[in-house]
Amino acid sequence: MSELHNLVIVGSGPAGYTAAIYAARAQLSPILYEGSVTAGGALMNTTEVENFPGFPDGVMGPDLMDDLRKQAIKFGAKLITDDIVEMSLAGEIKTLKDGSGNTLQSKAVILATGSAYKEIGLENEKRLSGKGVSWCATCDGFFFREQTIAVVGGGDSAMEEANFLTRFASKVVLIHRRDSFRASKIMVERTLANPKIEVLWNTEVVDVLGDSKVNALRLKNNLTNEISDRDFTGLFVAIGHVPRSELLVGQIELNEEGYVLVEGRSTRTNQGGVFACGDLVDFTYRQAITAAGSGCSAALDAERFLAGH
Ligand code: NAP
Repeated sequence: MSELHNLVIVGSGPAGYTAAIYAARAQLSPILYEGSVTAGGALMNTTEVENFPGFPDGVMGPDLMDDLRKQAIKFGAKLITDDIVEMSLAGEIKTLKDGSGNTLQSKAVILATGSAYKEIGLENEKRLSGKGVSWCATCDGFFFREQTIAVVGGGDSAMEEANFLTRFASKVVLIHRRDSFRASKIMVERTLANPKIEVLWNTEVVDVLGDSKVNALRLKNNLTNEISDRDFTGLFVAIGHVPRSELLVGQIELNEEGYVLVEGRSTRTNQGGVFACGDLVDFTYRQAITAAGSGCSAALDAERFLAGH
């Protein structure tokens, strides 16, 4: 059996990397599993982050994550670009299995697996995923040069995606199910002022049409119930996120939506020695800076726990 570690951090992104920086500086020799495909988390799929304090000129999401990563390594955190595929979190010694078949044992675990893109839930959305349906404008926008594409959603992500896509597309149609956006004011103003963006209010996508790739969307006006088809070659879904807590079901207390429940303002879960931070816990603020802050709290909570044991 492998050696007994102090602390394993599962998940990267601002929460996981910040937890690693603090835990490494506290001499806990943390091991951080970054994820095989998702290393760096959601910010790897964004462009410029304008509101992370300390960067008056903005910073590119991937650059910010790379710097956090380097900072964690500098203080001695061991980063592994693989997934944790199994966890047993009860009892004093936690056991984790990674995607390469290694088994680790640890006295404490910090969960920072973040969230995944939410899907509309249509059969053809899944079938045509990668064939015109995408969840990441920065990854796929380039393929839609001079085309007419749709973005679904009314939050900051949808505004960001729609604006970014106007760099490539000839037209972006933003489809939202209500008559007002929930995005921040500055993002809404930027979107409404963009001449390449048309907004369809009170509208839902009820089907994605196309044999081998997207060629139209079936839309429903939810005020009149009128159904219509409109030509599009791409659909970008930006309707929020769901917590990545599937490995935790039955082990850690979760709320109805799958977010990990923590004790008060701490990062302590209902399982001793297991802490949670970032988007996995936070369904209210969900900002890079709040995730980083909660990663710091998780490392401090873990440090105190280990000192007491
Ligand atoms: P969000 O704020 O939860 O917004 C999701 C949007 O999608 C809402 O407008 C919602 O409609 C719509 N929606 C949800 N389910 C839907 C469905 N099944 N069909 C159609 N529409 C659906 O998610 P987000 O935009 O991803 O943002 C998440 C968090 O990240 C927020 O806190 C946001 O501020 C933050 N963020 C910040 C920035 C930034 O630059 N500061 C950038 C991106 C994200 P309703 O409005 O009707 O509920």
